[in-house]
Amino acid sequence: MIRLSSARAHPAGYSPPIADIQFVLEHLVNLPGLSKLSSFGHADPETVQGVLGEFGRFVTEVLVPLDRIGDLAGSRFHPSTGQVTTPPGWCSAYGKYVEAGWGSVPFPAEHGGGGFPWLVAIAMQEMLTSANMAFALCPMLTQGAIDMLVHHGSPEQQERYLRKMVSGEWTATMNLTESQAGSDVGALTSKAVPAQDGSWQITGQKIFITYGEHDLTDNIVHLVLARVPGAPAGSKGISCFLVPKNVLNADGSSGERNAVRCLSLEHKLGIHASPTCVLDFDGAVGYLVGEANAGMRYMFTMMNNARLSVGLQGLAVGEASYQQAWRYATERLQGRPVGSPSGASGAIVDHADIRRTLLTMRSLNEAMRGLIYLNAYAIDLAHHADSQEERAENQELAEVLTPISKAWCTEVGAEVASLALQVHGGVGYIEETGIAQRSRDVRIASIYEGTNGIQAIDLVSRKLGLRGGQAIEALLCQLDSTDGQLAEAGQPLASIRSNLTKAVAELREATHWLVEQSRLDPSQTLAGATPYLRQCGIVIGGWVLARQALAAVAGAGNDERLAAKVTTARFYCEQLLPHAAALTPSVCGGAGVIFELTASQLASS
Ligand SMILES: Cc1cc2nc3c(=O)[nH]c(=O)nc-3n(C[C@H](O)[C@H](O)[C@H](O)COP(=O)(O)OP(=O)(O)OC[C@H]3O[C@@H](n4cnc5c(N)ncnc54)[C@H](O)[C@@H]3O)c2cc1C
Repeated sequence: MIRLSSARAHPAGYSPPIADIQFVLEHLVNLPGLSKLSSFGHADPETVQGVLGEFGRFVTEVLVPLDRIGDLAGSRFHPSTGQVTTPPGWCSAYGKYVEAGWGSVPFPAEHGGGGFPWLVAIAMQEMLTSANMAFALCPMLTQGAIDMLVHHGSPEQQERYLRKMVSGEWTATMNLTESQAGSDVGALTSKAVPAQDGSWQITGQKIFITYGEHDLTDNIVHLVLARVPGAPAGSKGISCFLVPKNVLNADGSSGERNAVRCLSLEHKLGIHASPTCVLDFDGAVGYLVGEANAGMRYMFTMMNNARLSVGLQGLAVGEASYQQAWRYATERLQGRPVGSPSGASGAIVDHADIRRTLLTMRSLNEAMRGLIYLNAYAIDLAHHADSQEERAENQELAEVLTPISKAWCTEVGAEVASLALQVHGGVGYIEETGIAQRSRDVRIASIYEGTNGIQAIDLVSRKLGLRGGQAIEALLCQLDSTDGQLAEAGQPLASIRSNLTKAVAELREATHWLVEQSRLDPSQTLAGATPYLRQCGIVIGGWVLARQALAAVAGAGNDERLAAKVTTARFYCEQLLPHAAALTPSVCGGAGVIFELTASQLASS
């Protein structure tokens, strides 16, 4: 086995890309504009910069060092007690996270939150996830559950649970999946029967529950989907229940153990420190959230929030992978780059193929960041914009963008992590380098929170139909809207303009074909769903980079960082954006050839 030099063994040197994040907050989305809204008066850019800087320091000092430890040690299940212990250092790090109040930043002040825009929470989540994806999952799920209870919980539920969830004293989970009910949530069979005191008794087994049991806090709030007696079949008969791990005492403190226990932990490809639990509910005390049979609608509040956060995992791991690959490429000497003196080996960063790889990763990361932050910004405006009209427009935009953010960014994040491993050559395949962990960790993001296949179906069957196709048309018009500015910018951005124009025209054509087919024969639409979502992601990525290039050109002067943004956007639009058009035959190919072979003919022999 090759021994790695200590310098090369797992350089855990993630450094939060605050300047890049700040650039997007100011130039792509309008953070200064958000802070002028009555809800966000205190979230002025200077304050936000302070919060992000402090949080960046926190994740670097506290969570980056635990990332590899978590991967090696994993969370452990103790069958005799049903308890789960997190890796060494996890409890102390979580305690510091809670003490600083980091989890509370985006939530309403009346529940103990900081009242900042979701956009700021997303910027924080990016850094948290880059630093330590397995750790980040715990606050991520808790934030989704808080959002759900803020919107749908009763005043009493909010009073008893929200403050401690917002502070992070208690964490939360999302319990949908059962062995026969994965993508098809409507197939779940967990049951809820009413008890005499107004509560419910929940019985059933849930699988794959993230942070379903752990030792970080003295209580866990499970949000559980189950069926009440007489519920209609399928997803129309699902209700949502709040089931605490420990039933609360009258004074709100954690009391007796509820009848919910962890039966085992899954052994996974990655995110080893995140406990993925089989949970057994055996007549556990639960409280109905909202109305019976409306649980799916409520869960969508949580899932949409979580879907954006999962898309963000692609970006976050992509960013951490890129930083590590760049470092390695500048240190590793191998071969003689063209033009260097004979006999001397140079750093691999000077080989054209490595340059291309790095630029590919960098531009994809910037495209993902643009898309995700734009999505979060739309969510903020959907809730807080001054006019109803602006709220409705942004709600629609957020709904269209969410499946694209989730699926495209997780797919691209996995590609970027894989490219980073490739830059490392053979040592990339050796665990001590740490880059293999990035690929293992990020791979799940394409699967959970609705597989990427399900996101694509959501995009073509629900989102394309919004307002009779006008919602997607509004997005296409936005993609066209920068053309005038690009024309004005002239030569430096000419190739960006011409490639973007072509790509948007091609996307429009593919979109119209799908919208038409969805009226005639939905199976044609479903057959093209995944390539269409990818096409959307690539083109929107080109558009956000074009907008970044416009902002960078305006302020570039002698600023190397801004000049690099223009080059990065040019590379993407000249070399990656044209791939979008190549997807049109797959989008519009229809279901015919796909179903020509029977399932048994698909067998390999
Ligand atoms: C590490 C981990 C953590 C998780 N955390 C949680 C959690 O906290 N809470 C929770 O409730 N669940 C959780 N899950 C479950 C996760 O959300 C499911 O695994 C996911 O929704 C897919 O369901 P499935 O595994 O049953 O796959 P299936 O639904 O069996 O899908 C198999 C394949 O078929 C495709 N497919 C399925 N239906 C269709 C269709 N109608 N049309 C086209 N293609 C289709 C899918 O895209 C997929 O490629 C977690 C899973 C893992 C592995």
